[in-house]
Amino acid sequence: MNIHEYQGKAVLKEFGLPVSRGVAIFSADEAEAAAKELGGPLWVVKSQIHAGGRGKGKFKESEAGEKGGVRLAKSVDEVKQFAKEMLGKTLVTIQTGEAGKQVNRLYIEDGSDIESEFYLSMLVDRATGQVAFVVSTEGGMDIEQVAHDTPEKILTFSVDPATGVMPHHGRTVAKALGLKGPLAKEAEDVVAKLYKAFTAKDMEMLEINPLIVTKDGHLKCLDAKISFDGNALYRHADVVQLRDITEEDDKEIEASKYDLAYIALDGTIGCMVNGAGLAMATLDIIKLYGEEPANFLDVGGGASEEKVTAAFKIITADPNVKGILVNIFGGIMKCDVIARGVIAAVKTVGLQVPLVVRLEGTNVEEGKQIIRESGLNVIPADDLDDAAQKIVNAVRGGK
Ligand code: GDP
Ligand code: MG
Repeated sequence: MNIHEYQGKAVLKEFGLPVSRGVAIFSADEAEAAAKELGGPLWVVKSQIHAGGRGKGKFKESEAGEKGGVRLAKSVDEVKQFAKEMLGKTLVTIQTGEAGKQVNRLYIEDGSDIESEFYLSMLVDRATGQVAFVVSTEGGMDIEQVAHDTPEKILTFSVDPATGVMPHHGRTVAKALGLKGPLAKEAEDVVAKLYKAFTAKDMEMLEINPLIVTKDGHLKCLDAKISFDGNALYRHADVVQLRDITEEDDKEIEASKYDLAYIALDGTIGCMVNGAGLAMATLDIIKLYGEEPANFLDVGGGASEEKVTAAFKIITADPNVKGILVNIFGGIMKCDVIARGVIAAVKTVGLQVPLVVRLEGTNVEEGKQIIRESGLNVIPADDLDDAAQKIVNAVRGGK
């Protein structure tokens, strides 16, 4: 689960990390009040969307200007002016895709004077099973570009959970960033607190880009991008409160109500599969035959008919879906339950696109019979390979 920058900074502040003072606002009038409260003389007006690259982003609407989604303001009037230009407008960044994201909240911050900008992030490294730090002197830039052009400028190390974060980790970061004396001490402190925040809140990713040295010689987290482990949300009611569903995919929100593992993708073939492994294999084989999946969907081991119906409705509601592939291996999940769910869903939402069904395993004959007798125009398939070829042919207008 992702949160906004201002929420992320509030979390960091809770753990004693250095962030700027700021106020989150929803209207231009609030912007003026916030600017007065902060006092100036420099303010930063920051678009709050769940995507990075805001500073270099562009608004779709011309009246929003060419100045990007993060702007420095030198007066209260300017803060208000920027807020008017940005609120309600659509910001397009390298991370939003062409459609962009509507800016509904702004964060007005006390502006910092920057001496230097660094990059620091943390994530769960699946290879080592540990929390890893990634640091670079190349802050404020696109880290993917740095990794591509000058990988030697990126340092990565992971922290053994048995010992937790140690002073030497902080010294490693300080050395990598060329920090000495009191700043090196601050780096140690920042590293320890970030690790504490990361593990205490079950984060999945935390990116501070840039981490800056201010002109008066202190470290500060100038940007914060945090995502939390969805599987650990049950123990963080405070984090769940930060969820902004207007930033999420409608289909994914609907799927989460039914506890379905659903991820929206860009392709044209809607998939309903049980088991994450089989779901991934299904996506792979669709790509192998030259088409793209419209989603990842694992209906789970023991899905009810109601859950299957909900899943089918979510798939058919996607206008990009030109064909549907149901691929079920009945173990705990029974094929007849899937068949009944599919038919119940088709009865309520109709079926405008070709549907290929491959059933195998428990109660397969019963499942096939239910589909045969439904009178639905279903293309039956024998195995995964056959099913993938049939759905790819069907969306291409063949038989
Ligand atoms: P992003 O573009 O979405 O990553 O948003 P950031 O929060 O990283 O802001 C983009 C850039 O704006 C930063 O890399 C800084 O160069 C600049 N910026 C942000 N806050 C301040 C500030 O307080 N003072 C100054 N001088 N620049 C800032
Ligand atoms: Mg940034």
